Formats: sequence, C-alpha cells, structure tokens
Amino acid sequence: MNKLEKLKISQLKKFLASQVVFRDQTLYYSHNVSLETLTKTLNLDHQKTELIYQKISGSKERIKNTILNENIMQNLLLELGFDFEKKEFKHFYEQVQFFGFAQKETKFINRSLIVTVMGHVDHGKTTLLDVIRNTDVAHREHGKITQKIGGYEVNFKKNKITFIDTPGHEIFQDMRSQGAQITDLIVLVVAGNEGIKPQTIEAIQHAKRTKVPIIVFINKMDLATANPQNIMQQLSHYDLISTAIGGNTVYKMGSCLQKKGIQELLNAIVLKGNEINLKTDINLLPKALVIDSFLDKQGVKTSVIIQNGNLKVKEAVIVDDIVGKIKSIDDDLKTCFQIVTPGKCVVLLGLNKLVPVGSIIFGFPNDKLVANLAKNFNYEKSTTTNKSKQVLLNSVKNFLQATKQKQQINLIVKVDSKSSEQVLKKRLSGFLVSETDSELIELNFIQISFGEINLNDLQSAIITKSQILTFNVKLNKVIGKKIEALGIIYHNFYLLYKFFEYLEDLQTSVKNQQLNEKIVGQAEVLKVFHHSKLGSIAGCIIRKGQIKLDNNKIQVMRQQTIIGKNLKIKSLKHERDNIQGAVMNQEFGIILFNFDDFQVGDELCQFQVLSQDEK
Ligand code: GDP
Repeated sequence: MNKLEKLKISQLKKFLASQVVFRDQTLYYSHNVSLETLTKTLNLDHQKTELIYQKISGSKERIKNTILNENIMQNLLLELGFDFEKKEFKHFYEQVQFFGFAQKETKFINRSLIVTVMGHVDHGKTTLLDVIRNTDVAHREHGKITQKIGGYEVNFKKNKITFIDTPGHEIFQDMRSQGAQITDLIVLVVAGNEGIKPQTIEAIQHAKRTKVPIIVFINKMDLATANPQNIMQQLSHYDLISTAIGGNTVYKMGSCLQKKGIQELLNAIVLKGNEINLKTDINLLPKALVIDSFLDKQGVKTSVIIQNGNLKVKEAVIVDDIVGKIKSIDDDLKTCFQIVTPGKCVVLLGLNKLVPVGSIIFGFPNDKLVANLAKNFNYEKSTTTNKSKQVLLNSVKNFLQATKQKQQINLIVKVDSKSSEQVLKKRLSGFLVSETDSELIELNFIQISFGEINLNDLQSAIITKSQILTFNVKLNKVIGKKIEALGIIYHNFYLLYKFFEYLEDLQTSVKNQQLNEKIVGQAEVLKVFHHSKLGSIAGCIIRKGQIKLDNNKIQVMRQQTIIGKNLKIKSLKHERDNIQGAVMNQEFGIILFNFDDFQVGDELCQFQVLSQDEK
C-alpha cells in the first residue's frame, strides 16, 4: 500500500469516527462522539467548556476522549441551549455529502468537459451523437467494435469532451432529484423545420434549474422549410437570446444528415468549456456517478462518469446497499483501463447487483474497511436472481388478490436496461391508481423488469392473462414461437412515446366502453415542499372551479403533457387545517397517493367521472 492510499484510509477512519456537524444552531450527529469532539464542534469558549467538564466527573485528560452516552450528550446540549438531531442515512454518499469528507487536495488535472445533448424527439439528437462519434477519427480506429455504455469521450483539437448518450430527459431529472450534477453543458437540438416543442421546453427548464449553460444547435437546415429566425425568436421568450444580437446564448446551425455545422458546434462547445472550471484533484476519494446499469454475458455492468479521484481495478467500492470489487474497467471502444481519471465515461464489472441511475459509487483501496463500513450501514450483499423471483411471486399474489376488480388489462413489461426500467417506472407511476378503487383500475402491471422474455414470464403471462410489452428487448426465436402458440399478446417498442401511446390507447379503449369525464376544478402549483415522511406537498391555487377531497381523480399536467393521471388525493390542507375542498383563488396544500413528482407551474385538474346515463 502506498503513502497516498494509507492517507486515504486514515482520513476515512477519521471521518467515520466523528460524524458530527454544527449548523444553524443545531448539532447534527449520526454516531455518539467524544467530549472533546463535541466541545470543538460547538466551538465553545473556555468558560463553557470548563463548565461541561465539571458536570462530568473524572479527570479531564481521562474523560475528554471518552465517547459520550447519547442521553448525557443530549442533556448537555439542552442545557447549553442548542438544538440537536440524530441523522440516519440510507446511502453512504448522502452521509459523505452531509458531513463533508475533509480530504487533503493535492494533485490537480484538467478533466473532460461533460456534455449532454437534449431536445424533442426526432429533432436529431441520436444522429448528432453518431456524427460526433464518427468525427473523432484520430481517436477511433475505423471499424473498431464499439459498445453502448451511455457515453463516450472524443478528442477535438486536443480537448477532451465526454458526451452522455443516455435516454435523456427523465434520466437527467432522476439524477437531479438525487442531488447529482451530471453535466457541464447542454446542447439543445431543435429541428429547423419544426421549432420548439414540449421536450425542448423541458430541456430548457432542466438547464435553468441546474444552472447548466446551453448551446443551441438548429438542425435539419438542409430542409427548405427550415426557419432558424423563427426558432431564435421562439427561444428568446425563454431568455435564450443569441450572442449575435447581444444576448448570451451561442446558436449554431447545420445538418446532421449532411454533416454540416458539426465542427462549428464542437468549436463552440470547446470555447464554452474554457469558461468552466474543469480542474479536479485526482488524489481525492474516487467517486463516480452511475448513468446506467445492465446485465450482459459477463455479469452486471455499471456505466459511470468518474467525478473525483482515480478509480482503479481491484479497488473496493460501495454503492447504495452493496459493496463490490472492481474486476475490469473499459470504455465504449472496449479499451481496458487499470486506472481511470475524472470526466471519463466507463463501464465497470464487479458489482453483483444492478444499481439505480444517479447512485454514487465510492472507491477505496481497502476492502476490509469497506466490508466493515457496509456492516455499519446495514448494507447487505444480495443477488439479483433471488430478488427477482421474490418480486415475481409477490406480483402473482397481488394479481390473485386483484382478480375481483372489474375492468383491467394485465401487463408484463420487460426492458433493456436499468435506466430504461427507471424511466418507465417513473412515467408509469401516473398510470397506476390506488388499490382501493376497483371501478377505475385499468392497467395492472404484474411485473416490470429488465432482460429478455424468459419461460417464467410466459408462465406468469398465462396465469395472469397478461399482455407482454417490451422496450428495446430482443426476442429469442424459441420464445417468439411459444408466444404465438400460446396466443399471448406481445409488442416491442423502440420509442418511449410509442410505448406510452399504446398504453393510452389501451386505457381509452376501456374507458370509452362505459365512462366519460368532466373537469370540475383546476389549480396551479406555486410551490413544492418535500417532507421526509409525507412525500411531496404541492402548494397550489385554484384557477377554475373547485377541488374537493372526494373520490374524483386528479390529473397532473406539465407543458400540456399528462404526467400523472387517475391520482387520488391523500390530504388537502389550508395552512395547517385539513379541508374538504378549495374554491376559486384559494390557496391550499395537496398530497397525492402514488405521485411525488410535482414541479412549480404544473397544472392539477380534478375530473368527475360520469357513467353513460349521466352524460
Ligand atoms: P432524436 O429522436 O432526436 O434522437 O432524432 P434522430 O437522430 O433519431 O433523428 C430523427 C430523424 O431525423 C431521423 O430520421 C434522422 O435521419 C432525421 N434527421 C436527423 N438529422 C437530420 C438533418 O440534419 N436533416 C434531415 N433532413 N433529417 C435529419
């Protein structure tokens, strides 16, 4: 073990021993601390420190390093007039973030600039990413086999740029909600012939919220109908005013199809990148952000962007509830690394479980310490197979309980990767309704998991009379024949919106049979509060009609897009009081069942469901 590794271990041990911080007149701690740590953290003057030592009998030298009993510590804090709170963490990275992990910063390098391409579907994001990937000829031998790992690095005029190549908006949002900052820069692609669309606006809002700069690329300029002036005009309403007329947004235009304007765009990216501080200390504890997680022949693969420090093969890692040891690291060109530097996008082998996108991985040179850490934090090793069997059993049980319900379509969904699974689950939460409402349950998801369709899936599709829907998943020939023979309805989708269009069609086809809806109230979300126990609370104002605490369902709209429907109200309050309803212009707070994703500006509509006779 070298000197630096020893230093990291001693820093980590120190960090684990004294997790305490004093902020806003409150002492936060997660473990009991010594008297000396307590007085130092509270920054007590000599007189108060002496007073405390007097209260605890024994010689000062002997007691100063003794770990305090929690009751004694709390009594002391009360006497001193300080608030206190014991913090419990689910994830190691949250703890590191909260208490701060003081590390000596020593060796700085310039990391790659991290860029995410966003924009509306079909405006040319994938084509642009492909063109850029192929532009990087010096770095990429022609014909070399590549693998899709969620991102790739290019060298452009000696500048390293990592492009993130993941499903886009939802993932970005997931990461943001977990406090992870993923990108330095957003390239917003807008098709010159179409103009701004809902996902264009969504991308702008993400960028603004995360304070990430935007470069606009107006694509499809080869089309006669392309109208860049119109797009600039539309985007100026979102404060994206071109530098050409004194604004601060760089606009580039071109055609991905004809490979025009790409060099100019890359130049603009590099120039903007020069304004961003890319210096990073490679001697910090290695930290990486998970951007995808999937299973292939070799086992569980985890795609990450290295954020801090150098990550090495054979290093022990902790991520969420698992520990592992890195067996191999490679990139999209299948280049193997023994050690990777910050800013790189690589795929790791060595974790035994898929991890959610947005998780943070920490690497340590000492696996014994990591194993101990895992024990401390109640992390547990588990295997995917056991877990998925359990999930399946539970799903079948749920199904059997749910058979009394009237109108429903059962679905088994399989997806290609963990990131797709997360995106789908997130979007689907809007389709799921509360268990108690038997009249309205229409789509019943028996199982949502990743991987190809297997015999188990067919078996549960037969038991539960389910359709099987897949997203980006190959169909094995034998299984395909069995699906046909068994008469199971099966569809594969490559585009997320097509998948949701299909679900919408399924829903409406059932609904149209006997139900129709009438809007009774509309409200706007003015503020969002997050409560650790209650979930997200939306502070709203009624804009039309009224919203009542009854069985009528709520729909949440964002940019004219439904992001949650058939939602049931969990709680309705005006200030601190529970209320039965809110009327025109009244402000109120609302919590919904199965929906946690409010944003300021969302619109809530309440529907009254009418039967055919009432129409
Ligand atoms: P994404 O959904 O934003 O990733 O869009 P894609 O990259 O898949 O592109 C959508 C469609 O637009 C495809 O049929 C592309 O061939 C086409 N396309 C992409 N760039 C251009 C362009 O510069 N000009 C024209 N005419 N078509 C383009």
